[in-house]
Amino acid sequence: MVNYPRRLQLARLPTPLTPLTRFKIPGVDAEIWIKRDEVTGTEVSGNKIRKLEFNLADASEQGCNTVITCGGIQSNHCRATAVMGARLGLKVHLLLRGEEPEVSTGNLLMDYLCGAEVTFIPENEWSGHAEYAARLQDSYASHGDRALFIPIGASDEVGLWGYIAACEELKEDFAQHGLTPDYLVTATGSGGTQAGLIVGSQLFDLPAEVRAFNVSDSASYFDRKIREDVLLWKQRYNMEIDEKALDIQTVEGYLGEAYGVAGPEIFDLIAELGRTEGLLLDPVYTGKAFYGMVSELAKGEAGRLPGARQVVFVHTGGLFGLFPQQHGFAFN
Ligand SMILES: *Cc1c(COP(=O)(O)O)cnc(C)c1O
Repeated sequence: MVNYPRRLQLARLPTPLTPLTRFKIPGVDAEIWIKRDEVTGTEVSGNKIRKLEFNLADASEQGCNTVITCGGIQSNHCRATAVMGARLGLKVHLLLRGEEPEVSTGNLLMDYLCGAEVTFIPENEWSGHAEYAARLQDSYASHGDRALFIPIGASDEVGLWGYIAACEELKEDFAQHGLTPDYLVTATGSGGTQAGLIVGSQLFDLPAEVRAFNVSDSASYFDRKIREDVLLWKQRYNMEIDEKALDIQTVEGYLGEAYGVAGPEIFDLIAELGRTEGLLLDPVYTGKAFYGMVSELAKGEAGRLPGARQVVFVHTGGLFGLFPQQHGFAFN
């Protein structure tokens, strides 16, 4: 039994777990199942809403009427926060990394449609965004408002609960479908999904090992970030787990040129999965992680998913990120 903290029911749960049936990797027999977290809700689709169920409950517990958060211009997390803020009657102030684009599309369009206040922070000042957020909190306070700051991706000790709870859901899924998967695969960007899956699979005794494919930073970054967040989580919620003994396996090699920049192989794979399965991935997160998973499976015993017979890929969402990058597709 796990004692969850206060949680708002914001996501459409449980999400389906469905097998791929027509997509084939030459020479690979492993079954691939998809945990469909791209259907956690239309406007709030993706993984961030699972975390926000806990972060926004925290905001309301703390009596906040405003939420400040941050991310890239096409941040899925910022969009989910903007939508939820409008639904819950919270003011949302987003700090977005980079220059204001001429045209607002994809997630940014939705941020504006949901009435979020947006401040663009130039690339060379981004390292100071948390201090900027702290000053903003003071400024809200001086006007009688109370603002909670949620860090990038809601990846902190509170948001960690999102994918711990998802592991409880996965345990039910596995029982229902009679699965004993060897691996749980995810993209990792700010680390909270990976961290939650690692802790949750331990708490709920899932058979699968977690393999995360980084789409930013490096394996050593996620190693440090996850141990820090898990330590804070233990302290805040009085939980028992050895954060030094966590099995953190981040698979490098699929980040490509940079965060948010994908090569033609990623766009080709997204189109192939669309054609064969009617399943859409995004070029920033899921496309790269799926490409990484396929490549490692194809290496067999020499790869990072040795002995794989059943693999669960967590579709963490990101579909609105397809539109700002439509020109990456060969037919466009
Ligand atoms: C944020 C995000 C991720 C990465 O999750 P983190 O918890 O930030 O590591 C993966 N996929 C999509 C679509 C995302 O928006």
